[in-house]
Amino acid sequence: QRALGSLGKSRAKFISAEEKTGITFDDFAGQEYIKRELQEIVRILRNEEEFQDKGIYCPKGVLLHGPPGTGKTLLAKAIAGEAGLPFFAANGTDFVEMFVGVAASRVKDLFSSARSFAPSIIFIDEIDAIGSKRGGPDIGGGGAEREQGLLQILTEMDGFKVSTSQVLVIGATNRLDILDPALLRKGRFDKIIRVGLPSKDGRLAILKVHARNKFFRSEGEKDTLLQEIAEQTEDFTGAELQNILNEAGILTARKDLDYIGRDELLEALKRQKGTFETGQEDSTEVPEELTLRLAYREAAVAVLACYLPDPYRPFTETDIKSIRSHPNIQFVEIGGRVFKRKADYVNSIVRACAPRVIEEEMFGVDNLCWISAKATLEASRLAEFLILQTGLTALGKAYYRYQRDLLPNLPAKIEALRDEYMRYAVEKCLSILKENHDAVETITDVLLEKGEIKADEIWSIYKSSPKSPQPTVSP
Ligand code: ADP
Repeated sequence: QRALGSLGKSRAKFISAEEKTGITFDDFAGQEYIKRELQEIVRILRNEEEFQDKGIYCPKGVLLHGPPGTGKTLLAKAIAGEAGLPFFAANGTDFVEMFVGVAASRVKDLFSSARSFAPSIIFIDEIDAIGSKRGGPDIGGGGAEREQGLLQILTEMDGFKVSTSQVLVIGATNRLDILDPALLRKGRFDKIIRVGLPSKDGRLAILKVHARNKFFRSEGEKDTLLQEIAEQTEDFTGAELQNILNEAGILTARKDLDYIGRDELLEALKRQKGTFETGQEDSTEVPEELTLRLAYREAAVAVLACYLPDPYRPFTETDIKSIRSHPNIQFVEIGGRVFKRKADYVNSIVRACAPRVIEEEMFGVDNLCWISAKATLEASRLAEFLILQTGLTALGKAYYRYQRDLLPNLPAKIEALRDEYMRYAVEKCLSILKENHDAVETITDVLLEKGEIKADEIWSIYKSSPKSPQPTVSP
């Protein structure tokens, strides 16, 4: 019997090894299609021979990409758990050190450990730390070192023959765009799966998973409360949702209550959003200028939502009572079949630029603050989604063609196209805000006076305000 316990002594401690992860696909909620794809891989892993007879082989590498906290590590562990295979994990940043030769030898160590327990699974989190584009700017230093490590990964992955591919390598990254193209070639990470932010239903399912070991007054109350939280957590990751429930549990214990109630959940939600209520005893006074910036931000986002309405996400209201890096405007998600055209994706990029564009316009480019910092990130994320996931841009089904060598130099092309969309979006957003300058000012005034404004009033201000025509902006 081989025992993983001995690994700790002989191997460097940067590898974490688990004989059984104990995690299953039941632990991952939402995004059912991801589970279906991965379940297929598990089936092949389990009955490798049977599938090989039919000429079906397991992919050598699976790349999970998406924002941090969306469950990539969890999925990798679930694959190992479901297939009943040992799990070897390392982080891309562990490989990169200033000492020459360390990266390559650590990669070798990782693969040889996994091979000695094969069939097994290797998980490399933050693979971009070692697998970023060669020849790019060497920001953190250690470029040559990283390159050696990357080459070693490629060598190791090419090393095991397909017919005996007993080690499945799973990589995770939130920077697909900077990965070296060589990693994505066929026979390496040739299965690329996006793990995105959960939808409202997905959020509810995730909350339910993490509420399994928590106490509520009744099942009915639990469902109602979780539903309410799911509605108020757009853009939250699974990790953040889990935090809300944990925090609520802690608050409940602190108050010596037996069950988690609405107050505890809402308090936990507020903490997770990083907001503070003005007027609360322990909060510092909010500077007037910050309130003004918030009001402009919400007004700009609201005007954009009127000019380029999203039929699947109408807005209901906004306020300036909490200070967050995300806009406070509330959207409702409408269920059912979503029929999105390319223009809808592009419009969402334009809308996402609003906080940043208005702040720059009103306060100057050197005078930006954190309340619009996420906007640029969000907009470029949406642009990247359009390019990589929809197949609706000039690049078409980019990755598919790239893997078959039909589309050389993809990362540079993605970058160029994304920059183009971003340039257009910022320009368009600015033009809309200038055209509706009066509406922005009026909504800002209402927010400063009352602290909040509902959709009806926003629409009537938007419609009745005079417009200042602008030159056309086209893509
Ligand atoms: P990543 O690797 O993408 O950064 P993790 O897998 O480390 O994210 O997620 C952290 C934790 O958040 C997980 O261990 C899990 O408890 C929770 N979590 C994230 N996404 C989900 C999900 N879709 N379903 C259930 N739990 C989730």
